[in-house]
Amino acid sequence: MATLWPRRERLLRVSGLCRTVRALSGKNEYDLLVIGGGSGGLACAKEAAQFGRKVAVLDYVEPSPQGTKWGLGGTCVNVGCIPKKLMHQAALLGSALKDAQHYGWNIAQPVHHTWSVMAQAVQNYVKSLNWGHRVQLQDKKVKYFNMKGSFSDPHTIRGLTKAGKETIVTAENIVIATGGRPKYPAHIAGALEYGITSDDLFWLKESPGKTLVVGASYVSLECAGFLTGIGLDATVMMRSIPLRGFDQQMASLVTEHMESYGTKFLKRCFPTKVEKLESNRLQVTWKNTDLGREETDCFDTVMWAVGRAPDVKTLNLDAVGVKTNSETGKIIVDASEATSVPHIYAIGDITEGRPELTPTAIAAGKLLARRLFGQSSELMDYDNVPTTVFTPLEYGCVGLSEEAAVQCYGSDNIEVYHAYYKPLEFTVAERDATQCYIKMVCLREREQRILGLHFIGPNAGEVIQGFALGIKCGATYPQLMKTVGIHPTCAEEITKLHITKRSGLDATVTGC
Ligand code: FAD
Ligand code: NDP
Repeated sequence: MATLWPRRERLLRVSGLCRTVRALSGKNEYDLLVIGGGSGGLACAKEAAQFGRKVAVLDYVEPSPQGTKWGLGGTCVNVGCIPKKLMHQAALLGSALKDAQHYGWNIAQPVHHTWSVMAQAVQNYVKSLNWGHRVQLQDKKVKYFNMKGSFSDPHTIRGLTKAGKETIVTAENIVIATGGRPKYPAHIAGALEYGITSDDLFWLKESPGKTLVVGASYVSLECAGFLTGIGLDATVMMRSIPLRGFDQQMASLVTEHMESYGTKFLKRCFPTKVEKLESNRLQVTWKNTDLGREETDCFDTVMWAVGRAPDVKTLNLDAVGVKTNSETGKIIVDASEATSVPHIYAIGDITEGRPELTPTAIAAGKLLARRLFGQSSELMDYDNVPTTVFTPLEYGCVGLSEEAAVQCYGSDNIEVYHAYYKPLEFTVAERDATQCYIKMVCLREREQRILGLHFIGPNAGEVIQGFALGIKCGATYPQLMKTVGIHPTCAEEITKLHITKRSGLDATVTGC
């Protein structure tokens, strides 16, 4: 009988039936349904399943405007942290090859890098992670739907496959973890037609060649950095300051180092149009606000790194009354990640005011599952979240920037300890260490609690991670001074900080 109904009518009846069954029995199919199988969503779903709950995840990747698509795991795995860090590693190896000659290695010159080999290896690894995520969901008995989800009612999600097949799923609790996607500056002629974003870069089969990266934050500087490192001509177009929100002295050192490393910078410039030439190259025109004139150059690739935005339209949030910020489009949540609708939660990049980082999305997801099903009341603490910008010379930090500390406490109440140091490895290799710098921002009262720690140098993420624990526990400057360093490392320089900015003394570290 059912097969005689037209498809749409059949679907409506099935969805209506679901709702009727739920209305009659008061029961939903799942205890938890997560929309979005990225860092936060997968962590939340797997944690909930540990409590023996019936859990489902819907994940669907809308291809980029250039047609790039990928598998399960979200931004971090497919078009973020993982491929980025591996390509950063490819660039670091290039620098290591140069150092190696000083250490006695005979390396035939010229050395050159083949994009397609790197890209294939990175892409294969990412695909293995996609597979790993599917297996983990299966092992933990989490039902996976490769479908785009949207709300039909507060407990009902309509899932749609690529082929247009519809499935209706009902759940007691729903978590939205749909992340964000790179923005395109739609007002710039040719931007969408000819430009790519980080959603495409890591999946290119051939080298992007001479590349213009527009934007001056994490994504832009990291990508331009590794492109330079593997020997490509890379230019960053920066309309204002680099790394907005970060300590600006550190941000300047990061870009200064990138300039000395070979990345070009077009400062106080903004693009006005992108045209495709007969040669297939892209001609970019921009306004140089310093010189008050238009300039132009040709590139093989133009990459937009002008921020990320959530795609909330497809979720049909209005139908259920989940409130979003009208400017950013992000979902408004309280400290327990609850939205304006009871039993609907949101975590990760889609949420307003949260850091856009993988570990915070994962931790928020796990804690939410524990609160929902594990009798925990622990909330996610977003204070003192450490992070690292994986530029050629890495920048890691935790806590307040100097500017933020001054703003919060006043400059008279802040003590800043700092040091210019030279990593031991740089000496034999004759590398310039001008930008290797450490800054620690403390309260000036007797205890001298540490408010922020900033480190530029090799392995910055590894260095900052351990100190982040101390700072989370309320470490003070005297306690840090009692911490014995590990010699000879870059991290030990933090335990030796003794020159204050206020003293005006030379902060260059000399001797051992
Ligand atoms: P995501 O991981 O984005 O997952 C959301 C998932 O939901 C996606 O799979 C999406 O396709 C899916 N989805 C969207 N809408 C729907 C729908 N309607 N139905 C079904 N599925 C849907 N963070 C770090 O901590 N360290 C780094 O080094 C780092 N590097 C980065 C480098 C780059 C280039 C970028 C872009 C980001 C980087 N990040 C990094 C940030 C990090 O990737 C994100 O903060 C993190 O992935 C956010 O996780 P999430 O769960 O909120 O969303
Ligand atoms: P951001 O929003 O941090 O930065 C956007 C950049 O683009 C800014 O420099 C901004 O300049 C510039 N910009 C915006 N609009 C335009 C425009 N129309 N023309 C020219 N420039 C423009 O975005 P990102 O994509 O860099 O990063 C997003 C998030 O992803 C980060 O906040 C971070 O949390 C996460 N991430 C984390 C990484 C890590 O942990 N290592 C790495 C990469 C990303 P202005 O300052 O003038 O507005």
